[in-house]
Amino acid sequence: CGIVGVLGTHEVAPIIVEALKRLEYRGYDSAGIATVNDGALDRRRAVGKLINLSDLLVHEPLAGKSGIGHTRWATHGAPTVNNAHPHRSGPVAVVHNGIIENFKDLRADLAKDGYAAETDTDTETIVLLARRFLEQGLSAREAAEKTIALLDGAFALCFLFNGEDDLMIAARKGSPLAVGYGDGEMYVGSDAIALAPMTNRVAYLEEGDSAFLTRTSIEIVDADGKPANRAIKTLALDE
Ligand code: GLU
Repeated sequence: CGIVGVLGTHEVAPIIVEALKRLEYRGYDSAGIATVNDGALDRRRAVGKLINLSDLLVHEPLAGKSGIGHTRWATHGAPTVNNAHPHRSGPVAVVHNGIIENFKDLRADLAKDGYAAETDTDTETIVLLARRFLEQGLSAREAAEKTIALLDGAFALCFLFNGEDDLMIAARKGSPLAVGYGDGEMYVGSDAIALAPMTNRVAYLEEGDSAFLTRTSIEIVDADGKPANRAIKTLALDE
């Protein structure tokens, strides 16, 4: 339902909660955040309103200057903590808007290789696929690219990887997604409104685009894997 990603210079959990608040109007049934802190991937998730996630974060803080957050509108699987995003399998976490139409086939294939589903969601197949590629020795970027190529349906998604404090990978097919440019920080958002507190310089991904972000660069490639230039727009500051 709502996606936020930040490669920041400050602790990101509170920043992501604030950004997700700006997407509250869309409605949601759970919320969650994953961060990478000194290479270690971790996450917190809570059912219901964002205030439940921010309460949880007070008692179980989540350190890290790289993070992804999500508010979920459940399509596959009940609105429980276990089904909440970010989904994680081993070294990879993802937030996802939309529906992976071929998740049942993917799930069956993954199970054959010992990558068993532990949630009721379509989204979990994304992290299981990426983990399988990582464990076959592929880089984070290759694993994400190969995973995205296997997905049918509508999605906007953003990956975060264990051991990668300076990398986020985002992709768009059928669901809107924007990237934001900061000063030594970079952002991903399902809606430019979510990014407004952090930056007013935003580029909208086009259909089939993937984006590879570090704190100092955003590389966008189109559906054919070719480098793509997407215009950076300056949003009105009061937006
Ligand atoms: N299909 C996914 C789920 O049910 C994502 C839903 C969303 O867009 O929030 O978890």
